[in-house]
Amino acid sequence: MGGRQVTSWQGMHITVAGLGVSGISAARALAGLGASVVVVDGGDSEVLREKAAALESSLEGVRVRLGDGDTLPEGTDLVVTSPGWKPTSPLFAAAAEAGVDVVGDVEIAWRLRAPDAPPWLAVTGTNGKTTTTQMLASILRAAGLRTAAVGNIGTPIIDIVLGEEPYSDLDVLAVELSSYQLHWAPSLRAHSAAVLNLAPDHLDWHGSMEAYAADKGRIYEGNRVACVYNVADKATEDLVREADVEEGCRAVGFTLGTPGPSQLGVVEGILVDRAFVDNRQKNAQELAEVADVNPPAPHNIANALAAAALARAFGVPPQAVRDGLRAFRPDAHRIEQVADVDGVAYVDDSKATNTHAAEASLAAYESIVWIAGGLAKGATFDELVAKSAKRLRGAVLIGTDRALIREALARHAPEVPVVDLDRTDTGAMLAAVREARALARAGDTVLLAPACASMDMFVNYNKRGDAFAEAVRELQSADG
Ligand code: ADP
Repeated sequence: MGGRQVTSWQGMHITVAGLGVSGISAARALAGLGASVVVVDGGDSEVLREKAAALESSLEGVRVRLGDGDTLPEGTDLVVTSPGWKPTSPLFAAAAEAGVDVVGDVEIAWRLRAPDAPPWLAVTGTNGKTTTTQMLASILRAAGLRTAAVGNIGTPIIDIVLGEEPYSDLDVLAVELSSYQLHWAPSLRAHSAAVLNLAPDHLDWHGSMEAYAADKGRIYEGNRVACVYNVADKATEDLVREADVEEGCRAVGFTLGTPGPSQLGVVEGILVDRAFVDNRQKNAQELAEVADVNPPAPHNIANALAAAALARAFGVPPQAVRDGLRAFRPDAHRIEQVADVDGVAYVDDSKATNTHAAEASLAAYESIVWIAGGLAKGATFDELVAKSAKRLRGAVLIGTDRALIREALARHAPEVPVVDLDRTDTGAMLAAVREARALARAGDTVLLAPACASMDMFVNYNKRGDAFAEAVRELQSADG
């Protein structure tokens, strides 16, 4: 990245990649500041044309070019990308060729924020980002602070930093950042940040595990108070060590075990802080009980500890940690119990779109009929299956890459009964749930934790989870 820092937007020629939510937000903000903006998008559908017309007519200085997302408009000074555009996109190659910087929405937000803007407490990781960021916001709110959970979630971050109602008066931001956003945000400097975990994901986008880890590690650059890492995941600690932080910034670990000095951890069912206390060699502060975490699955307790560490780094008192965790409710499709039928729990963790997430999810139950499969995104399943085999009552496989999971099951869990559903039509989920029910016994959990992306069969993971819940309801009402 050639470090040309933009100070005035007036008269700049900016190309925005992608006519999506974040692209539109960037285009509006930058045109509002006097830049001349061209939004480019490779698509050219009816929907896009309508969006383009609406955007062009609402603001002067914005033009939309549909049907060509590859060539760089003449005279471009800066390219603003949207999440999801690969770094290998021809548009960015053209920008590099022309010596033009490429940045993302988070970088723009960072550059646009006011001098007295609220500090950022930032969260990244392969899994658990949204949950942890929302837990953090809940804790901050319980401490009486005005905050919003932003970044990869909810309102586009540019709109937040521009401070329009109801975001005009915030004390602090809880910011979820994806590896893509970090890749394109070179000047971001958080108050404190956490990397929850690192497992191979999105490697097709980043090119290699090293590049992926390096992008995640950028979240620690310039931190002022604390770099929060996962004691059980050494790669996260390595990133802290490699980061260039402000003088006095501390490394703070979280662990599901007993915490050492400068760590948060768990002692006899209590979440305790040995980092933000006086005399941390000797003292520990009780924060909350494991039962205050929702749901109290091991990976989610880790999320709660990371959120607590960031909140404590910001000076939040212990009681607010407890109250905030108690008040927190996870989003849909994240270990969401949708029904209990004949003593069998049906749990929707459609958001487990990679093997690392599915592993955490499977670790939360004793005896499971596992519904899995979809698009593997280059993943392998041996480790996941080997680690989870003893918990599996059975498995029902769906989707394009199900053979990969079937083969892993044959290698590491040959005794587990497997149903291989060779169909991808809309009724496939109902068939899967029916098969799962036939395998389950009272006390078991039927767990949708696909370890794969959903797009081969569903619009997204939400729709996959909805289809699961609907199928369970259908079976129930067929009984009734
Ligand atoms: P993200 O925003 O990173 O995708 P979410 O909070 O939405 O993460 O959780 C996604 C899925 O990842 C959950 O449904 C759960 O299966 C799994 N998960 C959540 N937290 C963790 C964690 N700390 N470690 C491993 N897996 C996790």
